[in-house]
Amino acid sequence: MTGPLMRAAWFDAVGEPPRIGKRPRPEPGPREVLVAVRAAGVCHTDLHLRDGVPQPPPFPLVPGHEVAGDVVAVGAEVTGPVAVGDRVLVYYYDGCGECAACATGEENLCPAPNAKWGFDTDGGYAEFMTVAARCCVPLPDHVDYADAAVMGCSGTTALHAGRAVAGIRPGETVVVVGAGGIGLAVVQLALHDGATVIAVDTHADSRSRAAELGAIALPSGDDLVAEVLARTGGADVAIDTVGNDRTPALCADLLRTGGRLVLIGYTGQAAPLDVARVVTGELVVRGSVGATLADAHEAVRLLAAGDLRAVISRRYPLADADSALAELAVGGTVGRIVLEP
Ligand SMILES: [Zn+2]
Ligand SMILES: [Zn+2]
Repeated sequence: MTGPLMRAAWFDAVGEPPRIGKRPRPEPGPREVLVAVRAAGVCHTDLHLRDGVPQPPPFPLVPGHEVAGDVVAVGAEVTGPVAVGDRVLVYYYDGCGECAACATGEENLCPAPNAKWGFDTDGGYAEFMTVAARCCVPLPDHVDYADAAVMGCSGTTALHAGRAVAGIRPGETVVVVGAGGIGLAVVQLALHDGATVIAVDTHADSRSRAAELGAIALPSGDDLVAEVLARTGGADVAIDTVGNDRTPALCADLLRTGGRLVLIGYTGQAAPLDVARVVTGELVVRGSVGATLADAHEAVRLLAAGDLRAVISRRYPLADADSALAELAVGGTVGRIVLEP
């Protein structure tokens, strides 16, 4: 017996472009809902999944972890928090609910999650996806699907890194290295939370956008460290959204004594960090991965209030998923690319 099909884009092997075609439409499990996807953001992590960094995902995989859409069916045991007809943002982790991390709401750190949609379980590069009902965040009517989708990863990741991990306080100076999808969200959040923000990017268009949002925008040239130190005396916080072989050391050089370096981006390659600089400067170095369900609710609240804006560079139909990934890989896109199935 074959059920209904849907259009989707999926990865089949490391390093290959996504396949575009038809796949079986998923059926919601007892505690799941079926979401008709209206918008799915294209994240750098999707390139990592395609390229098997840091390890290959289970193939075939429909990527897409920044998803907004409509609930069109619910499983037998679903009694909330959403119902058929609701507009929702998908929170992409479903923790085990039993470990120490889940007990404190940090299911982004759960060692054995039930699912990570778009990472190890089919996500939103499709007309439909299933997701645990508890992972749906209701969207107010006035919020655009694409804007909401972008909050799903870039907005929530920025929130988690800026508040829970970096602990940005009013009056502090925050340097954001890399003004891409997540970087521009970090810029907005840090400004909203009362910080002075310096955004660093190699691309002039990204710097312009960061400046429009209210940041001091600087290129990543040879005199960057001297300029930041002259302006700030050493930043309180540096957030590295790039994570290449140079940016962690650069961030360390931008900080004051006791400053906090938060790593969000990565390439899969090791990067040197001057240990003496970390030790003698008593720097705090922390990673930040993903976000919590509470962060997802807060991101939607900030978006709905106009305090966090989605920066969208371009919208593609699902059939152009490969072009969208290629454009992201080249770099220089200002904000997020969104697929609209
Ligand atoms: Zn992402
Ligand atoms: Zn857990």
